[in-house]
Amino acid sequence: PGHLACVGLGMLLGGHLAPRARAYLEQADVVFVAASDAVVELWVQSIRADARSLQPYYAEGKPRRQTYREMIEAMLAEVRAGRRVCAAFYGHPGVFAQVPHDAIAQARAEGLAAVMEPGVSAEACLYADLGIDPGRWGCQHYEATQFLLYQRRIDPTAHLVLWQVGVVGDAACRRYASTRAHRQLLVDRLLADYPPEHEVVVYEAATLPIATPRMERLPLSRLAGAELSMQSTLVVPPARPPVPDPAMRALFARLDADSD
Ligand code: SAH
Repeated sequence: PGHLACVGLGMLLGGHLAPRARAYLEQADVVFVAASDAVVELWVQSIRADARSLQPYYAEGKPRRQTYREMIEAMLAEVRAGRRVCAAFYGHPGVFAQVPHDAIAQARAEGLAAVMEPGVSAEACLYADLGIDPGRWGCQHYEATQFLLYQRRIDPTAHLVLWQVGVVGDAACRRYASTRAHRQLLVDRLLADYPPEHEVVVYEAATLPIATPRMERLPLSRLAGAELSMQSTLVVPPARPPVPDPAMRALFARLDADSD
């Protein structure tokens, strides 16, 4: 019977591939790959020479929704035909990635078996490279454009991570870079919660073993002029410590006293 496995390749070429993901890659009847760059796809093809790239479905001006539908259809057609399909995505296949989630949901809706195999995401790399523990003060994650299009509540006492900041403002997913005007809208939104001199970090994890991560620190006020790419993630560290809640502390103290 057909089977779909959406697996993560991790961020670092050749360095993050987990044994289970590798097993799916090696044993599948059909392999699809959607990686961040051509080098990663070539590397997957060194494991599976017959791996089919999903890149050709992208086209300038084609709505991203349509691209995604076509990718999912290509994968599910093979599963319906009874093949064991492995679709490999860079990073974690379920982190800021719509196609793997939708493909698995649709497969299951059709009564087909489908699983997701996690991978090392950009998020995991940034915690390691920037020395951030999301459990220390908490951490909010948003897609940059969605963050602007809705009224979200930022907690400036926690970390804030904005994904796809290099294409901020591309609501229809038609363009491949954001304009300076869109970036300025993002800066203006952040200035409602942070001072202009607040230090933010443009982060890009290393994807090749010889490379080093980009960790560019700059004041928030200069962000609109910073060089941002498809690989950039924006990290906004906490601006101040959280405010204690005296009422809850009193309730805790009462419980402690009662249990004595
Ligand atoms: N599934 C991927 C994320 C895909 S969404 C993962 O698990 O990480 C694409 C966004 O991921 C980019 O806009 C950027 O915010 C982030 N990203 C991709 N490559 C990155 C890299 N090398 N370093 C930091 N962030 C990256």
